[in-house]
Amino acid sequence: MIRYLFAGPLNVLNHREQWGLDHLDLVEQTASWWAQAKTGTGTPAPSSVLSAWRALYRECWTAQADVLLSGNEAVRTADPRLCQPAAVLADGALVDDRDLQLGSPIDGRAVVDEAMAEHERRRSAAVARALRDLPLHRRLRTERADLEAAYDAEHLFVCPSCAVPCNDEAPPGHSYHVLACRCCGGALVRLVDAPVLPPTLAESLERIAARRTRLSDRR
Ligand SMILES: [Zn+2]
Repeated sequence: MIRYLFAGPLNVLNHREQWGLDHLDLVEQTASWWAQAKTGTGTPAPSSVLSAWRALYRECWTAQADVLLSGNEAVRTADPRLCQPAAVLADGALVDDRDLQLGSPIDGRAVVDEAMAEHERRRSAAVARALRDLPLHRRLRTERADLEAAYDAEHLFVCPSCAVPCNDEAPPGHSYHVLACRCCGGALVRLVDAPVLPPTLAESLERIAARRTRLSDRR
């Protein structure tokens, strides 16, 4: 909650003052408890302060959930950059508001289909080359699936944040090319190294909707 506030609403000086005025009671009660707690008396936070912070958290979380559940354009196109923040939100944490309001939404399904088609095209060419280079007696005993798996292990990468695949083989005529996620620009990792990938946006949205219902029922 505190990290969210300092990265978002309290990050800009003008907003900070306004936020303080809008939540003056909570600020004053928290500051007064903190002044006592600092003296080392181990004073626990009053329940009124705790429940006010919980209410504020629910308000911020619900507002973020509504941004995604309202189905803005980035949600409609399953923009891969939403995967990570949606997963964090589904787990009950808050995210940077800017990560939910994406400009120029990317069509996630098209990006994944295109990346896999490119990967499969390059893999098919590499496997054909490898088979052609083998002596006939070994060619007959070599399983295409094994060559494909070996190719995937070497050349199939993924963005750990967007879960978008990428083939790292340099295009013909390029000895060096930058290997970064085409959606978020982040560093890619080999899929064979089993990175922890965020769930699909649809899965996270389902969990967010269920959590939102539970939170509003509790009020
Ligand atoms: Zn990415």
